[in-house]
Amino acid sequence: MTGTLESVNPSTGEVVGVYVVDDAASVEAAVARARHDADWWTRGTFAERRQVLDQWRRVLARRMPELADLVHQETGKPHADAQLEIGLAVNHLAWAAAHAGKVLGRRRVSSGLLMANHVATVEYLPLGVVGVIGPWNYPVFTPMGSISYALAAGNAVVFKPSELTPGVGVWLAASLCEVLPGQGLLQTVVGRRETGVALCRAPIDKVAFTGSAATGRKVMATCAENLVPVIIEGGGKDALLVDEDADVHLAADAAAWGAFSNAGQTCVGVERVYVHERVYDGFVAELTRRARDVHAGAEDGAQLGPMTLAGQADVVRRHIDDAVNRGAEVLVGGPSAVGERFVQPTVLAGVPEDSCAVTEETFGPTVTVRRVHDMEEAVTLANASRYGLGSAVFSRSHGADLARRLRSGMTSVNGVISFAAIPALPFGGVGDSGFGRVHGPDGLKEFTFAKSVARQWMNPATALTTFDRTPRTDALFAGLIRVLHGRSRLSPKRPRWDRGDP
Ligand code: NAD
Repeated sequence: MTGTLESVNPSTGEVVGVYVVDDAASVEAAVARARHDADWWTRGTFAERRQVLDQWRRVLARRMPELADLVHQETGKPHADAQLEIGLAVNHLAWAAAHAGKVLGRRRVSSGLLMANHVATVEYLPLGVVGVIGPWNYPVFTPMGSISYALAAGNAVVFKPSELTPGVGVWLAASLCEVLPGQGLLQTVVGRRETGVALCRAPIDKVAFTGSAATGRKVMATCAENLVPVIIEGGGKDALLVDEDADVHLAADAAAWGAFSNAGQTCVGVERVYVHERVYDGFVAELTRRARDVHAGAEDGAQLGPMTLAGQADVVRRHIDDAVNRGAEVLVGGPSAVGERFVQPTVLAGVPEDSCAVTEETFGPTVTVRRVHDMEEAVTLANASRYGLGSAVFSRSHGADLARRLRSGMTSVNGVISFAAIPALPFGGVGDSGFGRVHGPDGLKEFTFAKSVARQWMNPATALTTFDRTPRTDALFAGLIRVLHGRSRLSPKRPRWDRGDP
């Protein structure tokens, strides 16, 4: 143990809790205990694990107000927003527990003509102990996206919450003890960077990291020392596209929520909006009207809380100042909107695409809006980011097509951030937003390894893998391959790319 860590209410500066910091030795002890408990958990059936996780889900649902209060205190976000993230996390836990058997359980696959004397099966087995490193912005929803799926897949978890939200992390692990007293299946280790490094270096089987791309690179480098695989859930710079046939009011409402909720501290928050010129004026009028109605403050009734991370307001200020200095038009807010802790909504137009307000993650309640000639231009600009986490499209007739063309892990059509609330949908990014997936079947498989078994149930008519093989067998094999794969089509069709088709 190396000292203590205070968690502080960012709205008031009051100390919420004091926690003993876990050093490398205590992290290793937690991992050893997890390894011990992973043993019986892994040997259990999917049904047995589901029973435990369902009981835990009920505990979380019953005690949601208490947990929401803690989230509110440690992050400053409104109580109702804290409740929203907990409710969605509980929903994911239910899905993971209910679907693990179907997604991961053993199933037969075709062994093919060549290997017809074999029965082939595949199943997905737990890795063992998973380290989960979490951020502070959604201190329940985000880590639970890994924890729920890792546990349902049969692993034990050691969780290092953000140093800003240790209380929430400790609470989560303690709540599982209500179902399994004295359990070591989900343990929380508390600390800053050093504790995270210790977890990456401990003898674990995978790290699920959520945080900034910069830290993600460091996590990967540390994990590489022991060839520990990682999932990186990094940041984003999500774009929202508004087509000429969009419901402009719906789009503006979604843009406001996507950009300003949680004070803009959302990895899949809307930070850039590209609007078709035919509906631009109407959209901007509606968005600015809504932005003026949203207020950040510590009092009851404020829709936004503070910047949870001290210093984040400086990043927001830098982005706004840079945009304004480079000729951007302030539609709402602007430099004066940025206080020490509380930042009021800001809407900027005419921001150069190479300015930091467009290229870097702002993580504050600001949004840039740009007029585009058509959706081709919108897609090109949206995809020009090095990030690729989420995105949104508003269009009555081209939503699905535009969604497919956006280079991001998830896209909402005629909505915003909706994909995160659908447990069956994988969640994760491309580029600087990271790789690997939480949620959905892919999220379950992330915490497993595929186990393939080929069982011979009768002797082959002609044995190929033996030194007793004869020239006749070789000739038979060659003939079979020719029949199976070597015949040309009667009228060969040239591939599309060979015909110069678009
Ligand atoms: P961060 O990168 O500063 O820290 C994340 C976690 O990593 C913390 O627990 C921290 O203590 C730990 N850490 C720091 N240095 C480490 C190291 N060298 N080795 C191991 N662990 C280390 O991020 P943050 O400020 O807590 O969170 C905000 C970021 O998270 C934003 O970029 C946001 O977009 C991103 N985020 C992404 C998702 C997603 O699902 N993709 C979800 C939420 C937040």
